Amino acid sequence: MIATTLPAPDAPADSPTGAAPARVLHFIDGTYTAGTGGRVFENRSPVDGRLVSLVHEASRADVDDAVRAARAALKGPWSRMTVEQRTAILHAVADGITRRFDDFLAAECADTGKPRSLASHIDIPRGAANFKIFADLVKNVATECFEMATPDGRGAINYARRAPRGVIAVISPWNLPLLLMTWKVGPALACGNTVVVKPSEETPTTTALLGEVMNEAGVPPGVFNVVHGFGPDSAGAFLTAHPEVDGITFTGETRTGEAIMKAAAAGVRPVSFELGGKNPALVFADCDMDAAIEGTMRSVFANCGQVCLGTERVYVERPIFEEFVSRLKAGAEALRLGRPEDPETNLGPLISAEHRDKVLSYYRKAVADGATVVTGGGVPDLGPELAGGSWIQPTIWTGLADDSAVMREEIFGPCCHVRPFDTEEEAVALANDTPYGLAAAVWTENVSRAHRVSARIDAGIVWVNSWFLRDLRTPFGGSKASGIGREGGVHGLEFYTELKNVCIKL
Ligand code: NAD
Repeated sequence: MIATTLPAPDAPADSPTGAAPARVLHFIDGTYTAGTGGRVFENRSPVDGRLVSLVHEASRADVDDAVRAARAALKGPWSRMTVEQRTAILHAVADGITRRFDDFLAAECADTGKPRSLASHIDIPRGAANFKIFADLVKNVATECFEMATPDGRGAINYARRAPRGVIAVISPWNLPLLLMTWKVGPALACGNTVVVKPSEETPTTTALLGEVMNEAGVPPGVFNVVHGFGPDSAGAFLTAHPEVDGITFTGETRTGEAIMKAAAAGVRPVSFELGGKNPALVFADCDMDAAIEGTMRSVFANCGQVCLGTERVYVERPIFEEFVSRLKAGAEALRLGRPEDPETNLGPLISAEHRDKVLSYYRKAVADGATVVTGGGVPDLGPELAGGSWIQPTIWTGLADDSAVMREEIFGPCCHVRPFDTEEEAVALANDTPYGLAAAVWTENVSRAHRVSARIDAGIVWVNSWFLRDLRTPFGGSKASGIGREGGVHGLEFYTELKNVCIKL
């Protein structure tokens, strides 16, 4: 039994083996604890609805304990370590994840239902890499230094120092649980901060498991803390409103970001936000059609469409529109829905029944607004074993007006709308006609057009002839309603450190 779990005295009747289900605990000050709240909530599999675990919900007192532990740890051995010592420990964390690859993989797939083939290539390896890359980066980053003249002729030197910001609250989503959480925890710890993490209520397990790895790697108690629960009136809101939190880094929906920003206003605490998107792909007639189809297939359907960077609006130059739609349809219809462990599976379920209801409401709206359903549009019949899961058909529409809800709002499911365009000017205008500005994909073999169009698209990330090709040293984040600030490379240092100028008169 792993230390994240306790035997449950009240095993529910639908426990698959008749055994007590696992319990997911908080991790506070280096120790797993059920906390003081006494409330638990169910974590159910999106694959078949079976109970995966019971998760303890943090009370306000539990969140206080976690923040207190994080604050105390700021003054402990963590703060006295050299950057080389911290780097070595974070490398050990990465190695610890890799050593327990199968445990992390099983936990991630049980919580999300995503195909093992996907999680084993992306979620878990990137979860480990996030510790190494930021540790190495922080170790090697330089700050600025300016010599200046003074009236007495002796001059002065200015140099910048980076100090940790303090206690960082990390609020993470369910779509790439380990990857997106470590993407924040990695740089936060590399910069010498301490953290309290509140993972999504849908996917608590890999974050909980990371506590074991932290202890094994020698991370001092209190540096990494985890509390479980929901957002409003629960652990998320208690944590973001906590006056002893020095900064909040959040990935999730734009509306949640607005609520967190209000909480952060008290004490003027800084925020780093990675929010929603309604990302366009622009497919020009001069593209490499095979590559554009392959890339658009991934950007629409990977992780069952639950990727913030995913494409929901596809604009195709008119001469190739019919061919593109028919090839994308064939690709969608060849997708294989199934259990995570089946190597043939390339499409899992949505995260929950609640999220499926939301996505299905857009499927209905599309039809009500006059869309042509090219493929999909409903719930697949995968037999009685999977009937309790949150399955949905991959779906493609054409024919919607640009101002319809399906074209304006983030759906976060395996679906897209494809619309023709006639000129480059029109394509850019359509791409930018959205409150969001996270990512875009441009498919063209014309290098001048690639530069021209990329420059004019209002988004934090533009891929040309690719999608999700990520170099972790590069800036990552959205413009407009898609976020505040940039993560990745040295750019995250603006949030995770306080920059101080020291001026020395010579
Ligand atoms: P969500 O906003 O519902 O929840 C995210 C986290 O916030 C969860 O841990 C949740 O418990 C917590 N939360 C909710 N309300 C809160 C509150 N009032 N105070 C504090 N915490 C609160 O998002 P989700 O459904 O988990 O994830 C999907 C969304 O995340 C999509 O909009 C997607 O685009 C976005 N996302 C963005 C990026 C990016 O990099 N820009 C990456 C992944 C996901």
